[in-house]
Amino acid sequence: MQARLVADQKIEDKNFTIILAIFTIIFAILIAATEPFLSAAWGAGKKPIQQGQNLKLVNNSPEETKKRSREMKQESTKYELPPLPYDYNELEPYYDQETLRLHHDKHHAAYVKELNLTEEKLAEARNTGDYALIRHLERTLAFNGSGHILHSIFWTNMAPNPEGRLRTPSGALADQITRDFGSFEAFKKQFSAAAISVEGSGWTILGWMPEFGKLLVLEVENHQNQTLWGIKPLLVVDVWEHAYYLRYQNRRAEWIENWWYLVNWDDVAKRFEQARR
Ligand code: MN
Repeated sequence: MQARLVADQKIEDKNFTIILAIFTIIFAILIAATEPFLSAAWGAGKKPIQQGQNLKLVNNSPEETKKRSREMKQESTKYELPPLPYDYNELEPYYDQETLRLHHDKHHAAYVKELNLTEEKLAEARNTGDYALIRHLERTLAFNGSGHILHSIFWTNMAPNPEGRLRTPSGALADQITRDFGSFEAFKKQFSAAAISVEGSGWTILGWMPEFGKLLVLEVENHQNQTLWGIKPLLVVDVWEHAYYLRYQNRRAEWIENWWYLVNWDDVAKRFEQARR
C-alpha cells in the first residue's frame, strides 16, 4: 500500500514536471512574440509621446531602429515658444500691444527656431564628423539659447497693472535687496542706469549669484555677453530696440521708467526662492 502510494506520487510529480515544462515553453514563446511591443510600450512610458509621433512597431531593421532613436532624441530636444501669461493688450499703457505681439510672436519665436536649427546642425555634425561650421554653431547656440532663456523670463517678470501704482518687492527678496544694494531705491537707480547705458542691444539683469551668496546687477550685451558664470537671472529687462522702438522710439529711459510699473514682484520672489535652494 505504502509502495503503491509512493509510485502514484512519482507519476503525479512527473506529470507536473511535464505540464510545467509545457507552460514554460508557451510562456517563453509568448514573451518572444510580444517583446517588440513590450519594449515599445516601455520606451513610450519613459518618454512622453509627442504629437505626430507614430510608434512604429513592426520589423524594424537595425538601421531603421538607429535612425528612429536619433529622430526621437532630436524630437526630445525641441525648444518651444512659451505662451504669454496675459493677453497682448493687457500690459497697456506701459507696453503697447503691437510691440508685444511682434516681440513675442516674431522675435522670440525666431530665437527658438534658430536654437532648434542649431541643435539639428550640431547633431548632423556629430553624425557626419564634419565640424567645419563648429565655431559658428557654438556661437548661435549661445546667442539663441540665451535669447530664448531671457525672453522666457522677461514675459513672466511682467504682469498687468490696471491700478497704475508702482509696485515694490516684499519679504525675503526685499530684505536681500536692502542688504546687497543699501536700499530698494539704490538698487532701482543702479538697475535703471545700467539699462539706459547698455551699448547697442542687450539686457539688464538682477541675478542671484550662489557662489557669492548675493544679488548682483549685470549689464548684458546681445543676449550672452558680459555675464557671470552661474548667476541665476531673477528680473530682466530687454533694451534691444525691437523691445520698445514702436512706442518709445529712441527714448529708452522712458521705456525703462514705464517698465517698472509692469514688474511682477511675485514672480521675481518665486525665482529668488528657487535660486537659493
Ligand atoms: Mn527681445
